Amino acid sequence: MNTLLHTLIFTCREAGLLIEKKREIQLSAMTGIRLKLHLSACKSCRIYATQSEQIHQALKKNLIIDDLKVIENELLKAKILNNLKKE
Ligand SMILES: [Zn+2]
Repeated sequence: MNTLLHTLIFTCREAGLLIEKKREIQLSAMTGIRLKLHLSACKSCRIYATQSEQIHQALKKNLIIDDLKVIENELLKAKILNNLKKE
C-alpha cells in the first residue's frame, strides 16, 4: 500500500499490533474504523487476522480442556478418598 493510505489507515505493522490488541481491550471508535479500512484494503492483514483468531481459539479450547481435566482429576480424587473411607 502507498504511504498516503498508511497515513490514513495504519501500516501493516500497526494493523497487526491492533489486531492483537483488539482481542484484549476495546479500541477507540476512530481506531476501529481505521483498522477496518486497513483490513478492507490489505489482504495480507486479513489473512493474518483470520489465522491469529484461529490460533487464539485453538489455544483457548485447549486451555479449557486442560481445566476440565484438572476438575475431573479432583472429582476422581474425591471419589477415591470417599471409597477409601468406606472400607
Ligand atoms: Zn496490512
